[in-house]
Amino acid sequence: MTQATAYEVRDNIAVITMQSPPVNGLGLDLRTGISEGYSKAIEDSSVQAIVIASIVPNVFCGGADITEFGTDKGFAKPDLPSLCCELEESSKPIVAAISGVALGGGLELALACDYRIALPTAQLGLPEVNLGILPGAGGTQRLPRFAGPQMAVEMIVSGKPAPAAKALAAGFVDRVYDGDGDFVEAAVAYAKELVETGAPVRNCADMTVDTSNLPENFFDGFRAAIAKKTRGFFAPEKCIQAVEAACELPLAEGLKKEGELFQECAATPQARAQQHLFFAERAANKIPGVNPKTQIRTIDKVAIIGSGTMGGGIAMNFLNAGIPVVILDLNAEALERGVGVIRKNYEITAKKGKLTEEKLEQRMGLLTATTDYADIADVDLVIEAVFERMDIKKTVFKTLDEVCKPGAILATNTSTLDVNEIAATTGRPRDVIGLHFFSPANVMPLLEVVRGEETAEDVIVTVQKLAKRIRKTPVVVGVCYGFVGNRMVDPYGREASRLLLEGAAPSQIDKALTDFGLAMGICAMSDLAGIDVGYLVRESRRDEISKDPSNGIVLDRLYEKGCYGQKTGKGLYIYEGRDRKDNPEVQEIAEAAAAELGIARREISDQEIIERTLYTLINEGVQILDEGIAYRASDIDLVYIYGYGFPVWRGGPMRYAEEIGLDTLLNTLNGYREQLGDYGEMWFKPAPLLEKLVAEGKGFSSLNR
Ligand code: NAD
Repeated sequence: MTQATAYEVRDNIAVITMQSPPVNGLGLDLRTGISEGYSKAIEDSSVQAIVIASIVPNVFCGGADITEFGTDKGFAKPDLPSLCCELEESSKPIVAAISGVALGGGLELALACDYRIALPTAQLGLPEVNLGILPGAGGTQRLPRFAGPQMAVEMIVSGKPAPAAKALAAGFVDRVYDGDGDFVEAAVAYAKELVETGAPVRNCADMTVDTSNLPENFFDGFRAAIAKKTRGFFAPEKCIQAVEAACELPLAEGLKKEGELFQECAATPQARAQQHLFFAERAANKIPGVNPKTQIRTIDKVAIIGSGTMGGGIAMNFLNAGIPVVILDLNAEALERGVGVIRKNYEITAKKGKLTEEKLEQRMGLLTATTDYADIADVDLVIEAVFERMDIKKTVFKTLDEVCKPGAILATNTSTLDVNEIAATTGRPRDVIGLHFFSPANVMPLLEVVRGEETAEDVIVTVQKLAKRIRKTPVVVGVCYGFVGNRMVDPYGREASRLLLEGAAPSQIDKALTDFGLAMGICAMSDLAGIDVGYLVRESRRDEISKDPSNGIVLDRLYEKGCYGQKTGKGLYIYEGRDRKDNPEVQEIAEAAAAELGIARREISDQEIIERTLYTLINEGVQILDEGIAYRASDIDLVYIYGYGFPVWRGGPMRYAEEIGLDTLLNTLNGYREQLGDYGEMWFKPAPLLEKLVAEGKGFSSLNR
């Protein structure tokens, strides 16, 4: 028996206990342990039935062992599909004692058993689709046989788990144990009961999928319903095909089909990208020079300074998590407006049936509004979200330094300003950090955590843990203009605006980008954020950008005409109700400006749009990496996936660069550098680190610290 399992016989029932924390990952040791325990139980004639249980709290089995991904160990015998088949053919009944999460391979293991007993808190699911693959150990064939094809396909395609009660109702859990005795004892008693009542062993090979209640053309309807959400992903369609196969084929053939579809998925760039993100999320928690076990500060009460667009959204995150918030603004009017927007947002959610009236009032009850700094003296964390002006931010931080209790974390939500300069206005720069939320702040999952030169270790760890409490994905970055996300938007926006001059229309640029998979094109994004907002940003950096007179010229002229985007009904597009169309003035402006600047207009291909906007964005990312502003390329990918609507199935911009090849990226940048003359020389110089990596034949992961 391996260390990963324990074996005992209680009252003629063999109990195989998985004991491989943290999640009973089905690595080779655990698989071997289960297989050996099973053989022992079969050989022992006194054993009447078998229970597979777990000793790990709240976990039955979390699925495949991620450390075996991409290694031979993952496929070594006994591999999971064969182990499941072996258990399924057992002559003695096997009971899975599902004491917590049963996910992926964990649920497949349970489905290969004859009966399943679960705790009410158990969650059962097949989340493989999130890794760009499908359940490959019989899940797509066995789940439909127990739960029916409708529920099975929904679970497999969404990857969302079902609670025990739902699984019981659907038929893939046979009993929920809600007593307060020992759960393994209850499972053993259940196994005895099965033996005593002569309950049959169940083999999926003897079962067919019940399609009698399936609506006509169900699968095609399902495909249509998920098409928009799954655009660009490869695995969802294969998951559907696998469940269709379960409906049509005997088990053995269905399992073979599942294996083929699994291989198809595993070989795609989408699977590589989605698995990359899985590891990226784990890697992002590790911060050089920061011990994750550092004692954290308590955060029980939060203050937000500024009740505008961002302040209100940020406040909602804390209210949703049950954390009291004091919101402070200059006057009662601003506060009334800000608090009104928060209430209205909750009311919209309540109208959709997603929030009860009681919860709404509970959340609003946690919010107090004030204009008096004395009211925030006792808070544990302050997040400043006032206007984006250094002088105002400095005044606010000076006051915070005077009024806040010792040990309070003082954070700024600035998008571009120097966090070190802000910190230096206080007598406690170690307590200062940037918490850059994204708009709408109550919705967007990214939290860019800006680490100042002096930010204390425990402040960083506290904020990382707090981010999880408010359901955000934190990515720690360093200080520079625009940090990681907005600094990379700079070349992206600049190229889009230059392409307008060279002959592309906003709708063409946006279509190329959304076809690539982005949630929204850059032109629509500019109109949404406000042409006026972008103008003010350029105004603050005129010296820097004046070396290129074409930079943002079309947008500046739109601004001068009062075309601010969606808020004025006119910007790069004209907005009529829900529709939008190209604004003809854009072409007029672009033609005139191109003539002034001596830029020839021509037809632009979609490929050129993608290369010029995204390759320059990635090139900036490489430079950021070289400067140490981001700790890993995969951190940049998370920023773009969670903050900027970059397609998940591409794995983020840096992952995309590796998929096309860093040499291709380098050659393409150099190609434009040559083709675009002075302009190319100015903006298409490859980052030195990119040249170095290509020369050495290395990838981004070689840089990981
Ligand atoms: P906003 O104009 O909507 O709100 C700013 C609020 O701050 C207003 O209610 C204003 O009355 C208040 N305020 C101004 N000076 C103050 C002071 N001295 N004391 C107290 N309150 C004061 O602005 P916003 O869009 O919410 O942006 C706020 C901050 O968030 C800026 O730093 C901005 O760069 C950053 N940010 C904005 C976005 C975005 O998409 N809007 C995204 C990320 C970060």
